[in-house]
Amino acid sequence: MRPSIRLGRLFGIDIGLHYSWFIIALLIFFSLVGHFQVINRQWSLALAWSVAAITTLLFFGSIVAHELSHAAVARARGMPVKSITLFALGGVANIEKESVDAKSEFWMAIVGPISSAVIGLFFLAVAWIAGWQPSTGTPPAPLRAGLVWLGYINIVLAIFNMIPAFPLDGGRVLRSIIWGINRDQVRATKIAASVGQFIAVAFIVFGLLRFFAGADFGGLWLAFIGWFLKDAAVASYAGVEASAVLARVRVGEVMSQDCPTVDGNLNLRTFAEDYLMRTGRRCFVVLQNGRYIGLVTINELKRIEPDRRPFTTVAQIAIPLERVRTVSPDTPLNRALELMISGDLNQMPVISNGELVGVISRSQVLQYLQTRAELKAA
Ligand SMILES: [Zn+2]
Repeated sequence: MRPSIRLGRLFGIDIGLHYSWFIIALLIFFSLVGHFQVINRQWSLALAWSVAAITTLLFFGSIVAHELSHAAVARARGMPVKSITLFALGGVANIEKESVDAKSEFWMAIVGPISSAVIGLFFLAVAWIAGWQPSTGTPPAPLRAGLVWLGYINIVLAIFNMIPAFPLDGGRVLRSIIWGINRDQVRATKIAASVGQFIAVAFIVFGLLRFFAGADFGGLWLAFIGWFLKDAAVASYAGVEASAVLARVRVGEVMSQDCPTVDGNLNLRTFAEDYLMRTGRRCFVVLQNGRYIGLVTINELKRIEPDRRPFTTVAQIAIPLERVRTVSPDTPLNRALELMISGDLNQMPVISNGELVGVISRSQVLQYLQTRAELKAA
């Protein structure tokens, strides 16, 4: 999921918000205002609003901490994490590749719920030190009221995440255990995703029944979560299956060998008219004096004002060779796709012994998968 708003960086990881996050933040904020006003009628509106705002922020801080714990384990196991995005149903850490072994997957998944449980117990402990007595129910003092709510919600979060519905953390734990036993990641994912879909459908049915039985909006919410989980389970399984197929294919088998080239000395107007517009291709390899010096795409051209294009050469705007990510013909196709996705690239040059031998693009990878799928269905 792409963040809509960047908040900043923590430990080298971008933290971002998706627009849908605002819906849930407002929902939590207003339900907290209501909750605080019910437990203590002496609170002024300003006090209820401020405590609700601080509590909401701390709640999202706990979700970021949960995701950071996934990221820390992923990183320690050699899986780089680029960003964490908060959205309507929590957070996601965008890990650049699938786990390489069952053990890594197990620890990476289970550390999240453990962190939430620890954070929850921590808030309850602070509330207890501040004088909260669990037997007397929720306390009236503002500080403690917020702490107790944070304590319980984080424990609920830990329990919810342990539901074995892949791709929830609990589903990932289940998959890693099956994977550890049968040594087959794709089959393990298939089983975990089926369990996930079953639970998701149960959520939808139960949620809708509750909603129609008592017009209870909590039921509708449950059904919505179920619907989201079902989609996520199907998509995650498709992703893992595709990745397994691509792992068996090398870049050299799929790449195109006729790389469109362009002379670096050409000016940009000629390049736009005679190359981009005439061929419809978006990416060209730049050659200067017979040497491959880099890549140029429509994006670089678009950054130059039209009236400056006749006086700028292709070589001046090309992405230099050192900065271009390349692969070799022996690179597995799934690795090449991961590199393109993490680098936000549509294509990569294929280099063998310092020579350009082809170009691999995302659309070629997709076409490859599509052809295979069609043959399998026939
Ligand atoms: Zn998690």
